[in-house]
Amino acid sequence: MTIIFDGKKLRDKILNELRLKIANFDYSKRPRLDVILVGDDPASKIYVNNKRKFADKIGIRSYVHTFNNSVSEDAIIKKIKEFNEDKSVTAILVQLPLPEHINKYKVINAISPQKDVDGLTDYNKMKLYSGGTPFVYPCTPKGVIKILDENNIKIEGKHAVVIGRSDLVGRPLAQMLLNRNATVTVCHSKTESLSNITKTADILISAVGKKLIGENMIKSGCVVIDVGIFKDENDQTTGDVDFGKVKSNADFITPVPGGVGPMTIASLMSNTLELYNKSSRL
Ligand code: NAP
Repeated sequence: MTIIFDGKKLRDKILNELRLKIANFDYSKRPRLDVILVGDDPASKIYVNNKRKFADKIGIRSYVHTFNNSVSEDAIIKKIKEFNEDKSVTAILVQLPLPEHINKYKVINAISPQKDVDGLTDYNKMKLYSGGTPFVYPCTPKGVIKILDENNIKIEGKHAVVIGRSDLVGRPLAQMLLNRNATVTVCHSKTESLSNITKTADILISAVGKKLIGENMIKSGCVVIDVGIFKDENDQTTGDVDFGKVKSNADFITPVPGGVGPMTIASLMSNTLELYNKSSRL
């Protein structure tokens, strides 16, 4: 029988464990997450509000710093540098995407690696890609690995196929799987004969943002993790996988919504506490 993963259940379990740990700290000494939000992208506003809601729930102090679309790159970097210096700030997150006139790499790399809650600075990436230990792992890939581990899905020696090679999801996830001794294939928009590759996956992870994975593209009994999330033509939230058709042929599958998404929030909160614990040891 196919196991359908319940992301909200695991998220709530993780958040409850974090809440109990944080309850031991004085309020003024609790971990603090500062989020920078630029512009008025409706999806970004929803994501940021959601992050704040969950931070509040578990006792992480969270602040959202909003800038209008025309803000200069220098102004954002100046703000980040203030947060880097401020000992009360544990974690800094820049909500992506940024407006086109702002260089995302410069902004992200202005964040001190010790406060880089998304693990996206060059320092943390270099640690990950060289097989070392970053201060924290990027949130969504970390959530995916947690799903596999919590469900006792073996990674070592398995063929993991990751579709998508973005800095945010595909690349770091492929590297984390490789660091866990999976045999990893990374596919992207220029990959030829995609279904010939996906059919060989023991663990298939799609992080694209388009309806891509049909029933004839998977090996019977494989694990299917759907990272994609977008609105379909009927304005319904959906993922890359044709869930209704694929699920009966997989041993384990994550739905959208309610699969990987809640795990990203759980990772963000656990990363904030991890940075807090590491900073108090510095
Ligand atoms: P992205 O930067 O747009 O990357 C998409 C990737 O998909 C690219 O590597 C692209 O290849 C590849 N791709 C596009 N069309 C393809 C095709 N027909 N066949 C194979 N590969 C194809 O997106 P992202 O930031 O990684 O996010 C991916 C999806 O995950 C989006 O739906 C996003 O909303 C979702 N997401 C969800 C969460 C969550 O918490 N659930 C978190 C982050 C992102 P090229 O490199 O060749 O262009």
